[in-house]
Formats: sequence, C-alpha cells, structure tokens
Amino acid sequence: MPSNKKYQAFIALGSNLEDPVFQIQQAFKALTQLPNTHLVKCSSLYKSAPVGKLDQPDFINAVAQIETILKPQALLKALLEIEHHQGRIREAINAPRTLDLDILLYENLQYCDEGLTIPHPRMTQRAFVLQPLMEIAPDCFIPGYDSIRKLLTACSGQKLEKIQAS
Ligand code: ADP
Ligand code: MG
Repeated sequence: MPSNKKYQAFIALGSNLEDPVFQIQQAFKALTQLPNTHLVKCSSLYKSAPVGKLDQPDFINAVAQIETILKPQALLKALLEIEHHQGRIREAINAPRTLDLDILLYENLQYCDEGLTIPHPRMTQRAFVLQPLMEIAPDCFIPGYDSIRKLLTACSGQKLEKIQAS
C-alpha cells in the first residue's frame, strides 16, 4: 500500500534577475502545485547584497515551509524543474539567476551524496537564509550544527533588509 506520510521541509528561495519579487511569488505558487504538497508558511521577502561575485544585482530571498510526500531526491528534482520553468540558466557558481531553490532542512535528516546535501551546507553562514528561516521557525535546530538563534547571532554582521511582510 502506498505511504501517504508527509514530511516537513524548508526551502530557500532566491532571485536577482527578471523582477525578483515576482519570481519569488511565482515560486511560492509553484510549491503549492507540487504533488501531495502543502505550503505551510512563507517568510517575508528580504533584500541582500550578492556574495562571492559582487558585480550583479541585489538578491530577493525568502524561506518556505512545506509538508510533502516527496522524498528528498524527488523533491530536489521537482525544485530543479521549477527553477528551469522560471528560466534558470546554470552558468558559473554564484552567477545571477532568475530563481534558486535549495532544500535547507528535511525533517531531522542529515544526508549527503553527490547531488544533494541536507542540511544545505552553506545555510549556516548566510543571514539571508537564517533570518527568513528564523521568522517562520524560531525554535528550529539545524541537525549537525546548532540552534538557529545561535547561528544567526554569528551572522549578525551581514546586512539584510526586510522589504515585504509575509
Ligand atoms: P547554489 O544553490 O549553491 O548557488 P546551484 O543552485 O547551481 O548552486 O546548485 C547546484 C547543485 O547543488 C544542484 O544541482 C544540486 O544537485 C546541488 N545541491 C546539493 N545540495 C542541495 C540542496 N540541499 N538543495 C538544492 N540543491 C542542492
Ligand atoms: Mg541552488
């Protein structure tokens, strides 16, 4: 008998091309259309300066909480399809993009293979991920790391502007 168990996951959304606010709002909608998936919460939208490659537009970032029957690899595949549908072209690392969707957390899973690492390996050093996550899940613990409160305190030097309440 097929299992209908739903799993909690948190997804980071980021965009800095072709009307980033619109891209994030479209992506929230696309998450609601994934099979047997429920969009539980959306964070506000935040504006952040680019990291790594500095000569590109600012980013709009947000985090969504979903409940889904999709297993991690199937969820990643579905997210990459949404990125593709919204015009994502993969160029160099840290290149500008219409949409980036990353799996931050999946239940309390710690998982690592070639194409997927959970928790997302760079989330713990990025205020533009931790701040919106803190907004919708203030008590969460990042498996293998620390509480979100402590991780965010360590990123307090990174500037972030809330531009649109959820
Ligand atoms: P980044 O998000 O770091 O800017 P990309 O969006 O280009 O980079 O992602 C590159 C690859 O990272 C994806 O094709 C995917 O296979 C891999 N990846 C590893 N872990 C994750 C994760 N937790 N969420 C999303 N992608 C991941
Ligand atoms: Mg990505």
